[in-house]
Amino acid sequence: MSQPNRYAVLGHPVKHSKSPWIHQQFAAQTGHTLSYEAIELPVDGLAQGLQALRDAGLQGCNVTVPFKHQAFDLASDPTPRARLAQACNTLWFDGERVYADNTDGQGLMCDLAPHLPGPWPTLRVLLLGAGGAGAGVLGPLLEQSPREVQLINRTESRAHELCQRHAALAQRMGVVLHAAPLAGHGAAFDVMINASASSLSGAASPLDARALRAGSLAVDLMYGAAAEPFLQWAQQHQAQPRDGLGMLVEQAALSYALWHGVAPAVAPVLQQLRHQLR
Ligand code: NAP
Repeated sequence: MSQPNRYAVLGHPVKHSKSPWIHQQFAAQTGHTLSYEAIELPVDGLAQGLQALRDAGLQGCNVTVPFKHQAFDLASDPTPRARLAQACNTLWFDGERVYADNTDGQGLMCDLAPHLPGPWPTLRVLLLGAGGAGAGVLGPLLEQSPREVQLINRTESRAHELCQRHAALAQRMGVVLHAAPLAGHGAAFDVMINASASSLSGAASPLDARALRAGSLAVDLMYGAAAEPFLQWAQQHQAQPRDGLGMLVEQAALSYALWHGVAPAVAPVLQQLRHQLR
């Protein structure tokens, strides 16, 4: 009997990952048979681990923290958005070729669309975080043509570097894009996206509440218990809170479509996942 097609998410740590469950739900929807495992690799062992998995028949994989930048370095054929982010979350293979994409940002845009406080061209956006997630989100965010994007990062130089790399895209889309220091962020944004790992340390928000206005959409890419302090902080300041669970399922659906050529339905999977995490 032939083995099912083999996929995986590679990370460190990765045991907590919901991706195997999500991809099995998609496979059940679309009538595919596949295996999808969570595989932990040593932090300096992506290249070696990936080669061993490819030799053993791996057809594609997601990569998560801390491998998104390293995965980009291994790609022979990154998509333009992965090239701009210099980080990727989705790989697939053909002979020696390593194809790579970054579905994080588009996944977030899909998830936010029904919750926005207005049309994108009217919105001022604060994006916090210039790591792998922030880098993946910035390009797809600029492609929505918001009025302004302020990028803040704890290490300010990384925010400047990311802004510089996206300057041509921002200009093409007519977006005012600028970096600012953590302590000097602007006020009253329509959308605030926390793409930093601040919630991992139990912090509510590294920004003060003047970043928000009543009715702002305040998003933390984290989900589950770790996101709660941020979500409560947003609610206390009359913002509309949203966690990263929708983005998680949306980016997985986009990876699934790249690998299998069919777009699965996100809503029922997200609904079940929310129920599980309650
Ligand atoms: P990363 O590459 O390790 O980057 C971490 C980022 O967080 C950096 O910008 C870092 O700033 C900043 N940071 C860390 N601790 C901070 C603190 N206490 N205060 C302020 N900034 C802090 O990680 P990543 O891949 O960007 O992931 C960031 C978060 O997004 C993770 O929690 C991840 O779980 C989440 N995420 C969720 C999804 C989803 O589908 N929902 C997808 C991707 C990522 P410095 O540059 O100064 O170090």
